[in-house]
Amino acid sequence: MQANSTYQQIRQQLDGGKITCAEVVSHYLTNIREKDTELNAFLSVYDKESIQRAKEVDDRLSRGKAGKLAGLVVGIKDVLCYADHPLQCGSKILDGFNSQFNATVVQRLLDEDAIIIGRNNCDEFAMGSSCENSAFGPVKNADNTNRVPGGSSGGCAVAVQADMCTVSLGTDTGGSVRQPASFCGTVGLKPTYSRISRHGLAAYASTFDVIGIFSNDIRDAALVLEVIAGDDEIDSTVSKKPVSKYSDELDFDKKVKIGYFKEIVESEAINEEVRDVFLEKVEQLKAEGHKVEEISFPLMKYALPTYYILTTAEASSNLSRYDGVKYGYRIENPKNLESMLKMTRSTGFGHEVFRRIMLGTFVLSASYHDAYYLKAQKVRRKIKNELEELLLDYDFIVLPTAPSTAFELGSKTEDPMEMYLADLFTVQASVAGIPAISVPVARDKDGMSIGLQIMNKHFEESSLLAFGDYVMSSIAK
Ligand code: GLN
Repeated sequence: MQANSTYQQIRQQLDGGKITCAEVVSHYLTNIREKDTELNAFLSVYDKESIQRAKEVDDRLSRGKAGKLAGLVVGIKDVLCYADHPLQCGSKILDGFNSQFNATVVQRLLDEDAIIIGRNNCDEFAMGSSCENSAFGPVKNADNTNRVPGGSSGGCAVAVQADMCTVSLGTDTGGSVRQPASFCGTVGLKPTYSRISRHGLAAYASTFDVIGIFSNDIRDAALVLEVIAGDDEIDSTVSKKPVSKYSDELDFDKKVKIGYFKEIVESEAINEEVRDVFLEKVEQLKAEGHKVEEISFPLMKYALPTYYILTTAEASSNLSRYDGVKYGYRIENPKNLESMLKMTRSTGFGHEVFRRIMLGTFVLSASYHDAYYLKAQKVRRKIKNELEELLLDYDFIVLPTAPSTAFELGSKTEDPMEMYLADLFTVQASVAGIPAISVPVARDKDGMSIGLQIMNKHFEESSLLAFGDYVMSSIAK
């Protein structure tokens, strides 16, 4: 099997009898065995089980009874429930915990004969931008193992980057699919908030969390989206809007109107090479006949603080359930109940999670609630309104996915503010709940990937994917 094959290529070979699912799985298992000791993208590898499942799918293929995703080998982030398999959210506090049911997305993949090969490493409870906050050690970027893969779904990104599975499912609360995709040179899709059921996703910030997809090409992301998206009676927040056949709607041959933010080009935080590449891509889009205009988004600078106030508030509430009573880890020989709760939480959570619970508790506290939480809710609505208004005028908004390319391991771990800036360009879409995708468009002088982010209106994944596909084939290099 060829390295970094797309599912479409694999499926053609499967249907043509040139390869078997068992061979596909063993291709990936060999890569995991050879590469992952260093990369650390997987926390569990379901080797025997996935070979067994591959044989079953081979049998269904030979009888013409196989599902839409037969032989699609998937990695899942360690925040998604897979029944009877470990779930730890990259944290010590869930030591020894096994999922009791399948997340809706996992069930839908299995129902279409996808094969889950393992559980991907991530920042603890999806909090981080570099995958250095995992209790199981950092994940490394396969293009340069001194660099981070981005976060928090870094394990998922590296699993696709290093050809250890065909696609992976991560989560994107403020950029955790798009930013690692940009750092690792893969496609990373964050659909509209509520497009995909969150049942079986361990919550970080419930009004932001979106399950997203990593792949080598857009068609695979489109195909997976059409399988996992849509109404789910177990999650009352999921949209009932019909799901399109995204993978059939990828043709793109019109001229469109595109905006990009002046505030981003002028931002002090953006790395020069990233800005140059971005502006070069803008020129290329113009040369292709599209109307591309610089626009102003004055509220842009409030998106990051709004994001961090609201997500820490939600996290402090969501993570209160990990108390040593119901799940996983519990301190040994506690003096009494109160000390058991305190000691379990203070030794079970890592530094970043601890910091965010403290911050979130502070912004929700009686004396500060109105000044922080309530105000941030109002600003969130304003940002959403302003972006929606811009998107009435423009078909798409483009921006660099991240202010820099993958940085050195350890270079930002001492300074949380510096680390939070890595999300500077991804949080807007998260605050507004609109869909966005990162596609790899170039490499910097050190050979690290640069991603271009595209955003559009709520539930417009179809045109987003089609335009993304066009960008990848016509302006990427
Ligand atoms: N890096 C951001 C954070 O630390 C985004 C995380 C995410 O999207 N899960 O919160």
